Amino acid sequence: VFGALAVLFISLGVWLSHLMSKRALVPIQQSYRRQQEFVADASHELRTPLSVILSSVEALEMGDEESDPFTRKMVKGLKAEVKRMNRLIGDLLTLARSDDEGKARLVLKKEEFDFAPDAEKILQTFDRLARDKSITLSLESSRELPIHGDRDKLIQLLYILLDNSIKYTPSGGSVTLSCRIDQNASGRTFILSVQDTGIGIGKEDQLRIFDRFYRVDKARTRKEGGHGLGLSIAKWIVEGHEGVISVQSESGGGSEFRVVIPLPPERPMSFFY
Ligand code: ADP
Repeated sequence: VFGALAVLFISLGVWLSHLMSKRALVPIQQSYRRQQEFVADASHELRTPLSVILSSVEALEMGDEESDPFTRKMVKGLKAEVKRMNRLIGDLLTLARSDDEGKARLVLKKEEFDFAPDAEKILQTFDRLARDKSITLSLESSRELPIHGDRDKLIQLLYILLDNSIKYTPSGGSVTLSCRIDQNASGRTFILSVQDTGIGIGKEDQLRIFDRFYRVDKARTRKEGGHGLGLSIAKWIVEGHEGVISVQSESGGGSEFRVVIPLPPERPMSFFY
């Protein structure tokens, strides 16, 4: 009888604590969701006036030749800041669309396409930024990269990785983007790597840089305009493609971010026609 009673009390205790923890979770989840909705709405609302400001700044920039050097400098600075704010708002929107565990609730629009021209275009986008910092930017890519994935999201992924590499590489360094398709016994994989000769990341920080809002050195990253969301978004994108993102780095010794995405078997007929 005592044994049976003990079992009954223990089960009751377990059941009650389970119930209480569930009760405690509900309001937390609700407030988290409300917070997410607020972030999504606010970011969405901020986008419209910002794009109006950006187009006005671009119009000012076009008539720039007649302006004095001070005005030109101001317009350039204004444009850079507006663009940075636009990126932050985009990141906040992506963040608000993540689920309670911080995993991607991304809706991927996957298609078959050649990524090679996109890789080249992305590199061209960063050309000016790299040149301003005297960084050698290069691309190592196969002539054709027939892949299956979400084009916009993969472009966003490379944008994040290249932007970071240029940001965290001092003048005179180099940044290399490599893209290739690997074919082995277990199938085809799309391999992307962004390698830099920058400041590197210590082992401890490597475990946390993919967390939301994590920045290694807050004072330094603030100066660089970071807000600690880029790599968590990069991770969502990669995981949305069932892939893996990893980093190899050493403090002071440069970094390499590597992405491996599994691909379905190639269907040449459907790809080219
Ligand atoms: P941020 O907007 O701060 O750059 P990220 O999520 O993109 O946010 O990166 C998180 C942190 O990881 C950065 O603040 C920076 O400290 C570190 N980091 C990312 N990429 C690099 C890199 N290529 N070299 C050195 N540090 C990096």
